[in-house]
Amino acid sequence: MSDQQSRATPDQSHAVKDNIVAIRHRLEQALVSAGRPADSAAVLAVSKTKPADMLRAAFDVGQRLFGENYLQEALEKQQALADLEAIEWHYIGALQSNKTRDVAEHFSWVHTVDREKIARRLSEARPASMDALNVCLQVNISRESSKSGVMPEALPALAEQVMALPGLRLRGLMAIPAASDDPAQQRRPHAALRELFETLARRYPEAPLDTLSMGMSGDMEAAIDEGATLVRLGTAIFGSRD
Ligand SMILES: *Cc1c(COP(=O)(O)O)cnc(C)c1O
Repeated sequence: MSDQQSRATPDQSHAVKDNIVAIRHRLEQALVSAGRPADSAAVLAVSKTKPADMLRAAFDVGQRLFGENYLQEALEKQQALADLEAIEWHYIGALQSNKTRDVAEHFSWVHTVDREKIARRLSEARPASMDALNVCLQVNISRESSKSGVMPEALPALAEQVMALPGLRLRGLMAIPAASDDPAQQRRPHAALRELFETLARRYPEAPLDTLSMGMSGDMEAAIDEGATLVRLGTAIFGSRD
């Protein structure tokens, strides 16, 4: 990343800090109105296309979990922010075979595993010196041909395969539902993902299945209502993307 790309203006950094404070409040309110404990969901700051300085500003006010979509960009930001030891990197972008090694070596979590071949390659590439790679399986919950993710009916077989891989630790499910402005419409796919998650958790009571990665800037409240434990917020923290 060039200096130009890693920089943010003081105004931009201020805005990020203000936004973090505001979304914490928004999350708190959503948890209260869902009747859930205050610590039962966390924020993943989705920082794709945003400069490293903005991530640093978020870190400065206590944000620790960051999600990136583009591998090369992510690796450059990781270098620029190598002094922030408590930062936790989540890979939430498309996964092809040629990316598995870098993802396995440079991230704590992956949210976008949707097929056995990719899971196996991630497991094989996870260095023995590191903890197992935390994995969410991405489900194509709205059954859109344009979206990646395992179809709901194929989820049990994929989960079984992933459970057997020593380099991976299956933590839960992730989805990007079809966009809608209507809160009632928004809740439906989140509820469906939650049901799949509960079925999975019953099937593997010994597994640390504790993560429902759903909800973005536009549907966070609906996702929290339906049990999200990790909301992935980009725009609400870093502003709109070009
Ligand atoms: C970009 C992105 C987000 C964040 O979206 P916003 O609407 O900006 O909050 C969340 N999840 C994934 C997988 C993304 O690619």
